[in-house]
Amino acid sequence: MQSLPGLTLAGMGGDAREATLVQYLAEAGATVKTFGLPVNGPKIVNCPEPEECLGGVQALILPVTGVNEQMELSSAYLKVKPIINGQLLSLLPAGTPVLVGVARKPLLDLLEKCTLDFVELMQLDEVAILNAIPSAEGAVQIAMERMPSTIHGSKAMVLGFGRTGQTLAQLLANMYAHTTVVARDSAQLARASAIGLKTLHRQELINAPLDMDVIFNTIPAPVINGEILQRLSLATLIIDLASAPGGTDFVKARELGIEAVLAPGLPGKVAPKTAGLILARVVPGILLQKIGH
Ligand code: NAP
Repeated sequence: MQSLPGLTLAGMGGDAREATLVQYLAEAGATVKTFGLPVNGPKIVNCPEPEECLGGVQALILPVTGVNEQMELSSAYLKVKPIINGQLLSLLPAGTPVLVGVARKPLLDLLEKCTLDFVELMQLDEVAILNAIPSAEGAVQIAMERMPSTIHGSKAMVLGFGRTGQTLAQLLANMYAHTTVVARDSAQLARASAIGLKTLHRQELINAPLDMDVIFNTIPAPVINGEILQRLSLATLIIDLASAPGGTDFVKARELGIEAVLAPGLPGKVAPKTAGLILARVVPGILLQKIGH
């Protein structure tokens, strides 16, 4: 555990992941001021108002899911969620590090305007690669709940072979699913082939046999479009992990009677403790680097 004595941090909003992270940071010696997190401890100061939480801190930790379209702080525990705006963030001195999991454009624009030094944690390989483990397990859990047959022996397709796709495809193959990987990058296809998976170039998808029991999408682009959906059996289950709105034409899928599930935020849902510990592995290092103790 990296030691963080003398640091004063703010942790605002979030869910069990952020609660785990805050607990860890306090155990590492930081004083953590919290708003909207049910955590207690000798180095944790619960604040009733966001303004109080931000006073005198050297860094702000926002939830993995950041803010919503209305700029409301993402929170599993607050009934009334505060709006994150320029007035609130002006309580932080220019250059203060702000750590957030995923930041949509309006939040990024605001953080830039307030000249804050933001880090998008989910963009970091060391977070995204480890986060792929609970994501893959969560996706398989949904498949197991909804499929009438076992993963073992099923025909599974994984679209995308990046950080999430690789872990998911390997998990499926380890469960003895007949697993096909679809990607556009020849190196990714070679990597999939090297570990014994079947492969298909993205451009071949439109003409390839699609007799799958389950298709998992990790490509954040409209890949499972009407043309592809028309060629699927009604028994095929689609589980779309890509960030909203996903890569599936859900309206068309519904029209055709194909079950398609958008499955966002799986780590926080299926393994919040692990997801919090993944953050705890990287956040102290980032804080020490940014604040320079
Ligand atoms: P990643 O490492 O960047 O992998 C993305 C994959 O999709 C790569 O194979 C990439 O190929 C491919 N791709 C991207 N755009 C494409 C396009 N237009 N056409 C064809 N292929 C394309 O990303 P990741 O970390 O695996 O995350 C993938 C998605 O899942 C993201 O939207 C992420 O937010 C989401 N996610 C969701 C959960 C959840 O719980 N639901 C958890 C983790 C991640 P190239 O390398 O050729 O671009």
